[in-house]
Amino acid sequence: MTETSIRANLTRIQERIAAAAARSGRRPEDITLIGVSKTHPAIAIQEAYQAGVRHFGENRVQEWEVKRVGTNNLAATWHLIGHLQSNKAAKAAKLFHTVDSLDDVAVAQKLDRARRETGAQGKLRVLIEMRVAQEETKSGVEIAAVPELAEKISVLPQLDLAGLMCIPPYLLEAEQVRPYFRRLRELRDDLKTKLGLPMLVLSMGMSHDFEVAIEEGATEVRVGTALFGTRAALPAKH
Ligand SMILES: *Cc1c(COP(=O)(O)O)cnc(C)c1O
Repeated sequence: MTETSIRANLTRIQERIAAAAARSGRRPEDITLIGVSKTHPAIAIQEAYQAGVRHFGENRVQEWEVKRVGTNNLAATWHLIGHLQSNKAAKAAKLFHTVDSLDDVAVAQKLDRARRETGAQGKLRVLIEMRVAQEETKSGVEIAAVPELAEKISVLPQLDLAGLMCIPPYLLEAEQVRPYFRRLRELRDDLKTKLGLPMLVLSMGMSHDFEVAIEEGATEVRVGTALFGTRAALPAKH
């Protein structure tokens, strides 16, 4: 992927974000674009940054640990968007500004502790990843368990629980995904009332369905393929 195509892709995505925002009476500046750079090299992140992207999402702690060396010069916000294993929590607390895929109280406590030990970094933003569909995927919290987890996270001093995230099933027609996005928004609204937390963030929508997500209230969309091009096959999970 060349610099010009990342730039052209970004322009196209921004137009689509603006159109979806306009359709739903929202302002495009209230929607944050997260460039999902997993599997793409640091040079691609550099190019996207030059084009104007300021938020990036990576799904593996170890991959990011290697790649960040090539992006140290960038004043970007780095999001962990993939499932976080307990044994990588301390590292993640140091390497990311926000963990958008939190789904476990023990991991939350580890993040909190690690953040306290590093001192000067301030609070770590976190989102709870909610499982909006019954799928085989192991990540994400069952809807019924979200309030209790949210309450436990909200008392951890070094974490700032800012909202919810979801990865709905991949359905060919983006329109079919709408009920899942709507459900996440409704759950967020419920939690706000029940817990009295601001919980403003809704991270939902990927390359093929981010417009529907915006119409349903997404404040952050996570876009990989439409920005960086297709990914090489992922290496086996370990
Ligand atoms: C890979 C990934 C994305 C981006 O997916 P695209 O379809 O390439 O836009 C978004 N969110 C998460 C959690 C991902 O793992």
